[in-house]
Amino acid sequence: MPYLILSDIHANWEALQAVLADANGAYDRIVCLGDLVGYGADPNAVVDWSRTSVAAVIRGNHDRACIGFDDLENYNPAARASAVWTREALTPDNRQYLEKLPRGPLAYEGVDLAHGSPADEDEYLVTPHDAEFSQPSLGSPLCFFGHTHVQGGFVLTRGKGRRILPTGTLTLQRGLEYLINPGSVGQPRDGNPLAAYALFHPETGVVEYRRVAYDIDRTAKKILAARLPEFLATRLYEGL
Ligand code: ZN
Repeated sequence: MPYLILSDIHANWEALQAVLADANGAYDRIVCLGDLVGYGADPNAVVDWSRTSVAAVIRGNHDRACIGFDDLENYNPAARASAVWTREALTPDNRQYLEKLPRGPLAYEGVDLAHGSPADEDEYLVTPHDAEFSQPSLGSPLCFFGHTHVQGGFVLTRGKGRRILPTGTLTLQRGLEYLINPGSVGQPRDGNPLAAYALFHPETGVVEYRRVAYDIDRTAKKILAARLPEFLATRLYEGL
């Protein structure tokens, strides 16, 4: 049975619900690559869901920032404001859950789960060149990662990297190394505002890249009502 791969939900409840409805029946477990919270207005709903629903999850940099593990000087003003807001909003139980999230990479059923890159949870893998220099630290030829909010990823052939365009399905080939990004559920930044996710079929080695519409108006209204930076609402319409 395939599993659902989610990343960068960023406290966007409507996007998460749309993804779960779209994938309904197509998977039997869920893995999550970090950044459950930060930016969005529903951190508790998303963390409550994660606590009961995911088979494996690692932390992202925003999960760290929102529980005070990071110096916020390194974040842009919108991220900083949302981290401060989220710290206040989180229930004690949910805060404790985030504090205990493991740092990636995490080995899960023969694949690696990472937030930024296999070597560094804060590293952005943006270009094939970045991927070439990123060693799969746990040794699996397949690593799922997030952090850039760009669906797709990279394939390495004898160390040479190539970008994967997320069009439909990808059948993994033996002997190659893959870094696969399911895209961001709650704040896509690849120019497509639809919520992004992936399904992985371990038996056949097939990755399905998927997108689904959600009620952006509702999410944006909640962000504004929470007095989070307006930019965090408007950018959702652009997917940037
Ligand atoms: Zn993120």
